[in-house]
Parts: sequence; structure tokens; C-alpha cells
Amino acid sequence: MRTPFIAGNWKMNVTDREALAFVDAVKDRVPSNEEVESAVCAQALSLKGMTEKAANTDLRIGAQNMHEEDYGAFTGEISAPALTSIGIDLVIIGHSERREMFNDTDERVNRKLHAALAHDMTPIVCIGEKLEEREANRAGEVVRKQLEQALQGIGPEQVKGCVFAYEPVWAIGTGKSSNPEEAGEMARTIRAYIRDQYGQSAAEAVRIQYGGSVNSENIAEYLADDDIDGALVGGASIKVDSFLALLEAA
Ligand code: 13P
Repeated sequence: MRTPFIAGNWKMNVTDREALAFVDAVKDRVPSNEEVESAVCAQALSLKGMTEKAANTDLRIGAQNMHEEDYGAFTGEISAPALTSIGIDLVIIGHSERREMFNDTDERVNRKLHAALAHDMTPIVCIGEKLEEREANRAGEVVRKQLEQALQGIGPEQVKGCVFAYEPVWAIGTGKSSNPEEAGEMARTIRAYIRDQYGQSAAEAVRIQYGGSVNSENIAEYLADDDIDGALVGGASIKVDSFLALLEAA
């Protein structure tokens, strides 16, 4: 049985002061990790302060991105060694906003995934089709291709430590969430791909989140599907009450 994993992706919407106040407000109110795992992924500058505040609680803090190299002349980037040195071991990789606006190609997503796993971090690997791809009935094909490219050179034991977030691009920040049946179908497509490539035990171990206009009203409909193991939530994860409501509903 996979434990549900609800992660907030705050994107660029929360200041450091707000981030620290959020952790203070929720850290002792999140469910125990045996019931539901919870995390928030914040801007890099807040990660150290948040991690210190969340120490010894069930709230996990994650990064929204990192560079694929450990060190080097990459002005403005953050590395896996820098993240792990402050206790961050969770990172979102290949979010569609980064794929779209910051040149996170499939090849780069693959390199970032290798870096995260090499540093024993939990990657949340984002995949998902665009509207025109769904309308052309190509959603399954697009997601399988993204998986194939993201997972080049990754072994079965490593895959078990990955979280996959199925985020249809057209459902992100639009209020137009995927219907739960379609999201469940896509989660099955992802799990079937993992089974084909890595076998049954890897397929059973990986956790698959749905993301795209999730809120406390609709989250239970997604989690009712056996193949959806959690959610990656943007807008509804930012306010204390609505984050706690998500966890409550999970
Ligand atoms: P929203 O929940 O705001 O649609 O954002 C989803 C998302 O991109 C999470 O990574």
C-alpha cells in the first residue's frame, strides 16, 4: 500500500517571511507520515529557514528545481550538493513551466534526475501533455515519450525512489482540472510503462501524483483512484488553511 503524498509547489508566489510563517503555522498540524506525507516546495532562498523550522516534524521541505551539475560556472543556479548540505532531499524536476520557459529539455530533465538520485534525493518528475496533444489523442504517447527520455540510464532500484507527477499542462493554474477518470487513465499509463521497463515491484513502488487545479474540494476524487497516490498542488497549497484542508481531505 502506497502512502498518499501531497506536495505544494509554491512557484514564485511566497516571500521568505510568508514561507517561515507558514511553516510555523502548519508544522505541528500536518498528519503523521504514516497516514499522509506532506511537503511544500519553496523558492530556494527560503529553504534553509524552512527546513530548520520544520526539523523533527512530519512536514517535508523541497526545492522547485536544481541544476544537473554539482559545481561550476552556472551563475544563478543551485546544485544538489548545496541543497543536501542544508538538509533538502526533495526536488521537483521538469515542471512544465521550466520545460516551457527555462529550457528544461527532456535531455536536461534526465540529467537532473541522475543528479538528484546520485545525491539520494527524492525527485518529483513532472510529465504531462499540452492541450493540442490531448485533443489529437496523443496524451498517452507524449507521456510515454517523456518518461522514456527522463529515465534514460536509470535502474529499477533508483526508479522505485521516484515520484511522478502527471500534470496536464492545460490544467495548471487554469481552474480546469482534468476529470478524475482521465487522470486515473494517465496514471495507469505511467505505471504500465514502469512495469514494462522495470517490472512489477518497481511499478508497485512508484508514487504517481496528479497535478493541475487540485483543491480541497476535488482532491478526494483523484485519490479515490488506486493508481493516483497523491497530488502536486500549486495555488491551493499557499494558504495555511487551504493546505491543511488538502491534507485533511486526502
Ligand atoms: P495549480 O494547482 O495552481 O493548478 O498548479 C499545479 C502545478 O503546476 C503544481 O506543480
